[in-house]
Amino acid sequence: MKALEQTIKYDADRDREFPRQIMSRPGGEKLFGCVQCGTCSGICPVAAYMDYTPRQIMALTRAGFKREVLSSRTIWLCASCYACTVECPKQIKITEIMYALKRLALREGVYPKRFPVAVLAREFFKMVRFNGRITESELVVRLFLQTNWLALLKTWRLGINLIRTGRFSLKGEHMKNPDALRPIFAEGEPKLRPRQPRHPWEDMES
Ligand code: SF4
Ligand code: SF4
Repeated sequence: MKALEQTIKYDADRDREFPRQIMSRPGGEKLFGCVQCGTCSGICPVAAYMDYTPRQIMALTRAGFKREVLSSRTIWLCASCYACTVECPKQIKITEIMYALKRLALREGVYPKRFPVAVLAREFFKMVRFNGRITESELVVRLFLQTNWLALLKTWRLGINLIRTGRFSLKGEHMKNPDALRPIFAEGEPKLRPRQPRHPWEDMES
């Protein structure tokens, strides 16, 4: 009975537009061709660290479990190695689907709290959008402050060495006319929303 209740509740959470959204993105067209063979999960070098395997991500996406997919760590752990895409017997472009999911997660502000890859992607995009370029030192500081500021204190010596040897610059980088890029971003890239808690009580937990 408990399992039945959970199934009904879960079914109500489905977003039937979600798979259509992903299928309309380049690479997502064959999503429904997935036969759940698990080849992608078997070959993925980082599957052991994911909360859902690539096969599960395909199944959840197809079934419309948008929140679970977009807030998963899996899409941010994907290293874009393309091994799954090469081996998929149904020629599904799994890596491109992972990219589409990441873009949607940023646009909807649904991603794991303080997870460095998601924060890095968001801050990288923001800097490019506003300056046309990134300033590595500023990007690293923003990343640490939003994820683990204690790690910034622990790595200060490394930072000084990188600056001293010219590998890391404090000079702010920007294009002469970053406004020229704005129409491109307005056309093709998502507007970034602040992160939304996965559950209403999540932010109270930390
Ligand atoms: S390898 Fe392709 S068909 Fe098999 S589970 Fe992964 S996505 Fe689906
Ligand atoms: S592209 Fe991503 S999901 Fe596919 S095998 Fe590589 S790391 Fe895993």
